[in-house]
Amino acid sequence: MGGSYAGLEIAVKLWDHLTVTIIDSNEYMEHIMYSYKSLVEPNIAKRSLSPMANLGVHFHEKMTFKQGKLTNVNQNNSINVELPDGTS
Ligand SMILES: Cc1cc2nc3c(=O)[nH]c(=O)nc-3n(C[C@H](O)[C@H](O)[C@H](O)COP(=O)(O)OP(=O)(O)OC[C@H]3O[C@@H](n4cnc5c(N)ncnc54)[C@H](O)[C@@H]3O)c2cc1C
Repeated sequence: MGGSYAGLEIAVKLWDHLTVTIIDSNEYMEHIMYSYKSLVEPNIAKRSLSPMANLGVHFHEKMTFKQGKLTNVNQNNSINVELPDGTS
């Protein structure tokens, strides 16, 4: 859950043992340390976003991506995810 630094690091550690699907509400990963610089250099803003659709390629197809917002973690460890079209 969460396709940023922590989520991707965990994915790398798990993908040889489990099937990994990254879920994030955004369809891109934001390299957040570029935030301040992109305020003064507009070209940097574009480069600070990596489309999640490219993740599989970058990570040698060892995981897949699904866009959605985590809304609940249930007691039986299942999760509820709201998809971009509002369904779950
Ligand atoms: C302006 C700025 C500059 C920084 N510069 C540096 C730096 O130079 N060096 C450094 O080491 N650290 C820096 N940091 C800190 C660093 O960005 C954070 O420590 C790091 O991003 C934390 O990573 P994370 O994966 O835990 O969380 P995040 O990067 O916050 O990622 C969380 C991910 O989960 C997703 N998500 C959240 N809630 C949900 C939900 N309910 N459903 C689905 N997806 C969800 C988000 O979309 C996001 O992709 C900076 C932070 C900021 C704000």
